[in-house]
This record gives sequence, C-alpha cells and structure tokens, in this order.
Amino acid sequence: MIEIKHVSKWYGSFQVLADCTTSVAKGEVVVVCGPSGSGKSTLIKTVNALEPFQEGEIVVDGISVGDAKTDLPKLRSKVGMVFQHFELFPHLSVMDNLTLAQVKVLGRGKDEAAERARKLLDRVGLKAHQEKFPGQLSGGQQQRVAIARALSMDPIAMLFDEPTSALDPEMVNEVLDVMVDLAKEGMTMMVVTHEMGFARKVAHRVVFMDGGKIVEDTDKDAFFDPSALRSERARHFLSKIL
Ligand code: ATP
Ligand code: MG
Repeated sequence: MIEIKHVSKWYGSFQVLADCTTSVAKGEVVVVCGPSGSGKSTLIKTVNALEPFQEGEIVVDGISVGDAKTDLPKLRSKVGMVFQHFELFPHLSVMDNLTLAQVKVLGRGKDEAAERARKLLDRVGLKAHQEKFPGQLSGGQQQRVAIARALSMDPIAMLFDEPTSALDPEMVNEVLDVMVDLAKEGMTMMVVTHEMGFARKVAHRVVFMDGGKIVEDTDKDAFFDPSALRSERARHFLSKIL
C-alpha cells in the first residue's frame, strides 16, 4: 500500500532523511518513533507529498508520489493525515469542516456529504457538536473532528503525526480509543507517536528513527523485547519512555 524506497532529503547541506526504506502493507499499522529532530514528521509528510524529497521513490497504492505527473490532490484525498495541532478550519463549523473537501474534491452532493459527516461524527462520539466551531471544543474533541474529517474522504490509508502530544493527559485516551478502533477495523495506518501503549495494543511493526535514518524496522513483539533490539540508541530511547 505504502512503499518508501531509499528516500533521502536535504535542507541545503543538512540531510534530514538518509536512505529511508520501509513499507506499510494493506491493513497494517506501523508506529514510527524516535528522538526529537530524527526526521519522523518529515518522513511521514513525504508520503502524501507535503514534503518533497530529492532521492528515492515512494509509491502509494500504485501512485508514484515523486512523479511530476502525479495528481497530488487526488493522492492526498486517498491518504488522510492528522497532525499534532488539529489544523481544523477555525471559521467553519464542525459540519462544514467535514463536508467541504467531500464536496470540493470528491464532488459529492451536499446532502450525501452531510450524511457521511453525521455518521463519522457519531462514530467519534461528537454527533451533538456538529454546529459548533473548533474553538468551542476541547483539544481531544478537535482532534476527533480532525480524524473524522480525514475519514470523510474515504482514505485508503491514514497518516498520524503525534496526534496526542499536544493534548492534556486526560484527553489522550479519547483520541487513542478512536485510533485503536480504526486499527482494529483494518485501516492501513502510519502513526508517529510515543504512545507505546498504543503501539503494543495495535501496531504490527515499529520503525525507530535517529538522525534521519531508519535504524530499527521490526515487528512489534521484537521491538518491545529488549534482548532482540539491535541498536543501542533504540534501547536507550525505550528505557526512557517505557
Ligand atoms: P519532533 O519529535 O520534534 O517532532 P521529528 O522527528 O518529527 O521531531 P522533523 O520535524 O522531521 O523531526 O525534523 C527533522 C530535522 O529537520 C530537524 O533537525 C529539523 O530541525 C530539521 N528541519 C525540519 N524542517 C526544516 C526546514 N524547513 N528547514 C531546515 N531544517 C528543517
Ligand atoms: Mg515531528
């Protein structure tokens, strides 16, 4: 579903991604972790072309991301993305946040889009809030709206970049619960997070990055088995967050 092959990226002379190769199969949940500045956000943003890269290849559902001929709006509509800071449209109601792209990008009728939005809001527990504006919601509620908005495009995969790290602790679980459900339903997911409880529960594989490199890419059980880890860096990282 998502193939990242030998991807490198530089900002000027600074190499932010160094020969990164990994993949996410259909229905697979891959957690990406690693120290601050290791390139996690940059890597995940290359997948839906929010960040260009200079070397290597990324293929999403048969579409080559780096190819100049690729229809980027179409690609982005297929791959939902949820960010740390929600990034909802502040001047639009929750309902309008969920219907805008369905109408503009997918060409759905307003009624059909609203119907889909209501179903998704119900699913994330926010049906009663559809007329509110993002500023009237808690962080956890806003993040659930952001997830519902991404799902409204019927994505074939979802990317998450530290979706809970800006939330107050008591709101983390309401967002993780939605993500766990999504994973259990078989959604293909690439998730940058340090929530190792989430990783243990639903991840199939864990990728560990350091200094722009993928230094671990192992199945979940191997990642959490300290004796099986190859890199000292990952061992040290895990000892701090577990
Ligand atoms: P964090 O855990 O703090 O979110 P990260 O692993 O997501 O970190 P990135 O945001 O991908 O890391 O950044 C990787 C490196 O690239 C960092 O050293 C960062 O300073 C650098 N970087 C990011 N964006 C730019 C930019 N636009 N220009 C120059 N350097 C950048
Ligand atoms: Mg980041």
